[in-house]
Amino acid sequence: MLLAGIMVNFELSDEQLMLQEMARDFANEEIKPNAASWDRDSIFPREAISKANELGLLTLKIPEKYGGGGMGSFEEVIVLEELGCGDPGFATASGSSMLASYPIITGGTEEQKEKYLRMVTEGKIAAYCVTEPGAGSDVQAIKTEAVRQGDEYIINGQKMWITGAGYADWFFVLAYTNKEAGYKGMSGFIVEADLDGVELGKKEENMGQRCSDTRSVTFNNVRVPVENLIGGKENDGWMNAMKAFDLSRPSIASHAVGNARGAMEEAIDYASERNAFNKPIIRHQAISFMIADMATKIEAARMLVWKAALKADSGKKNTLDAAHAKRFSADMAMEITTDAVQIFGGYGYSEEYPVARRMRGAKVVQIFEGSSQIQRLIISREMLQDI
Ligand SMILES: Cc1cc2nc3c(=O)[nH]c(=O)nc-3n(C[C@H](O)[C@H](O)[C@H](O)COP(=O)(O)OP(=O)(O)OC[C@H]3O[C@@H](n4cnc5c(N)ncnc54)[C@H](O)[C@@H]3O)c2cc1C
Repeated sequence: MLLAGIMVNFELSDEQLMLQEMARDFANEEIKPNAASWDRDSIFPREAISKANELGLLTLKIPEKYGGGGMGSFEEVIVLEELGCGDPGFATASGSSMLASYPIITGGTEEQKEKYLRMVTEGKIAAYCVTEPGAGSDVQAIKTEAVRQGDEYIINGQKMWITGAGYADWFFVLAYTNKEAGYKGMSGFIVEADLDGVELGKKEENMGQRCSDTRSVTFNNVRVPVENLIGGKENDGWMNAMKAFDLSRPSIASHAVGNARGAMEEAIDYASERNAFNKPIIRHQAISFMIADMATKIEAARMLVWKAALKADSGKKNTLDAAHAKRFSADMAMEITTDAVQIFGGYGYSEEYPVARRMRGAKVVQIFEGSSQIQRLIISREMLQDI
């Protein structure tokens, strides 16, 4: 029986297997050998992102008519697990353009799709601007406003923690067009990065995923043509941003699954070589049970991610599934990367080995794209809405 592209026996199709192998080869050849130096020196992996884009790995969900892969969320999460296994920072850095593209895929006009999705498939970078200095989890507390003046909107406000901002050619920006209406007064805009009044902050010195570029973006009387109001309709921004989260959360969760899998694989290799008390430490049951638990949790997280992605592909509302997948995968990856450091002992605490970078990189997934607390809020709301 075929269910939205996956056999219920959990076997991937030949095409999906080929895609997975291509992404795995890319991670092994282009990401893993460079990830430590990118992180240490805070180098944005521009060239590797371009290569991944040329292979079509970063734009699978963009329709073919705009140059994308025309595939589903399911194919996307298979590929993103491999990129996350390569390095969690690379996965985030290379994911900003898709994140900014989701609201255009779900709510953009044909002209917006043709222009801005095509820019992404041709290798330009985009960034997603929702968070502000005073508003993260509480999106309705944003202050950015867009006021219509003739054929333009004038945008004023500051966004914070914007991934990819320093390299972006365009931004998705959530702003109020009618502050009195609360969340029903928000609209999404596409803002080109070279417009007058777009000002970038310094690159943030983050704990992990240091190759990813994160900074503030200030919009100071930025004049945006009315054609760049997403969907051509005011006050649709909130619903569209929420629908985009339902697509992006399985993707971010798959990064976490990949990062955890990478940490487990590295821990198995290390524990097979390292001797203590006259045998490889993997022969001590305390260690092999830690690895068994890692494998179970990774498998469980992957199943949640696959379910959330398949539901998105079937056209059904997947808000609850996406929240389950994001919450569980993010917390699981934090736990597993911490356990991997433990298995490496003192060497795990050194940046000479990859698990310290994986542990630092795992942390932010519990914070961005809706923190683990916010996912619990969504899960409880979705579960209890009829009670
Ligand atoms: C490296 C990095 C990259 C990012 N990239 C982007 C990006 O590209 N675009 C973008 O728009 N944003 C981005 N963000 C911002 C990110 O989405 C926010 O940091 C996140 O939503 C949390 O918001 P906050 O930092 O303001 O924390 P707050 O909202 O102030 O939350 C602080 C703490 O309180 C908890 N909390 C808040 N409300 C509740 C509640 N109701 N119940 C229980 N607990 C609660 C939170 O879980 C958190 O632990 C990025 C952040 C980082 C660190």
